[in-house]
Amino acid sequence: MQHFIVVGAGLAGLSVAAGLVSAGASATLVDRTRLVPARGTSASWVLMDPLTAPTPQMKALIAASREMLRSPPRYFGPVLRAGGVLHVAASPQDFARLGDISLEGDRLDVEHRRLGMNELHLEYPELAPATALGGVRLESDAAPEILTSGVYDGMMKLFIHRGGKVMRETEVLSADYIAGGWRVETTQGLLTADALVNAAGAEAEILALRCGATSQQLATRRRSVVVSQIDGAAGLAAPPLRSPLICWAGYDGLVMRTEPHGEVFASPAEDPLSATDDPEIEPIEIAGLLELVQQRTRYRLRPHVRAWAGTTVARTARAAPTGLTGEPVISWDGRATSFFWIAGFGRHGVQAAPAAAAVAVDLILECRRERALYEDFKVRPSAFAAARS
Ligand SMILES: Cc1cc2nc3c(=O)[nH]c(=O)nc-3n(C[C@H](O)[C@H](O)[C@H](O)COP(=O)(O)OP(=O)(O)OC[C@H]3O[C@@H](n4cnc5c(N)ncnc54)[C@H](O)[C@@H]3O)c2cc1C
Repeated sequence: MQHFIVVGAGLAGLSVAAGLVSAGASATLVDRTRLVPARGTSASWVLMDPLTAPTPQMKALIAASREMLRSPPRYFGPVLRAGGVLHVAASPQDFARLGDISLEGDRLDVEHRRLGMNELHLEYPELAPATALGGVRLESDAAPEILTSGVYDGMMKLFIHRGGKVMRETEVLSADYIAGGWRVETTQGLLTADALVNAAGAEAEILALRCGATSQQLATRRRSVVVSQIDGAAGLAAPPLRSPLICWAGYDGLVMRTEPHGEVFASPAEDPLSATDDPEIEPIEIAGLLELVQQRTRYRLRPHVRAWAGTTVARTARAAPTGLTGEPVISWDGRATSFFWIAGFGRHGVQAAPAAAAVAVDLILECRRERALYEDFKVRPSAFAAARS
């Protein structure tokens, strides 16, 4: 039986490891942390929106993952809940972007509705008229929310139940391919495996360097979320209990939603380049973001806020200028023998993980199990794959 070491127990690594043991292989999942579930996401929920993902294959992975999570395997508790996303045009130029989103919806058969300006303001009176000129809405079923810890816990149970082994607080320091197998130096001693899977997230490039693998031109960016409280709302009877996720369609600065008890979550639409450790959002950026929320809505926000930041990583070489538009790397390494990559999901690693892991397992074990994935969702393994060296 082939034995794999999967480095990185984020959602990507855990899902691949669970897939490998479910397919009859043996796997050890190694992470240098104590494994707080779903730590990479910094959030208990994330929204699935296949229409605005950066590339066709990422869209396909998200759409396929959504279907997989609708009927998860045994051991999973609830993993989806009602969501919905509203894309709003802030300027006449943004209408083209709304048109693109709508066309993608038709192409991928994702249910959505165009909203004219009057309709938009009737349904969302909290939006400021000058910067909400029209919208496209994906209903809850088309863009549900993922309960990230539900997915993480389910995958972990599946992995353990099928005989997988987890090594926490174990960092991979270096690895060499010698005499037909990997010798992996870790902080807990030497491990051996037939093949290595690099699911090290923002540190995937560092791990590759330690193992003599090729750089995939992955760049790390900071992604941050700010939470504030509604203090009042000019001209509104009451703020809504819970809004869909609202994205200004030109992606000029803002993604937000309101929660029960008047909490507002806001996130800058652009992610600056960042080092892999200790990303932080500066007070001046927080102030600017909250000011933007106040310009785009009728809300007045309290100054007291909490904010957090993490890192995302995406391939830059084949990508458009933002650097966040690359395809993920789901492939054998071109140089290092039996070294497999699953990394580079940018802002979409949670939404894409189930289908991405299924593709990875098929490529690693050289089989094609997930017919619906490839035929119904047009996921193309060849879009990612390089042959095993
Ligand atoms: C604020 C924020 C909001 C986000 N929102 C969304 C969203 O709405 N939707 C969405 O889909 N995605 C979102 N993302 C992105 C998503 O979190 C990532 O794409 C996803 O978590 C990546 O998963 P991963 O498994 O590839 O990497 P990670 O979760 O980062 O896991 C990598 C693991 O590898 C371990 N590791 C690294 N090097 C080593 C080593 N040498 N030895 C041992 N272990 C090692 C690390 O400890 C880590 O646990 C968001 C990210 C942030 C920061």
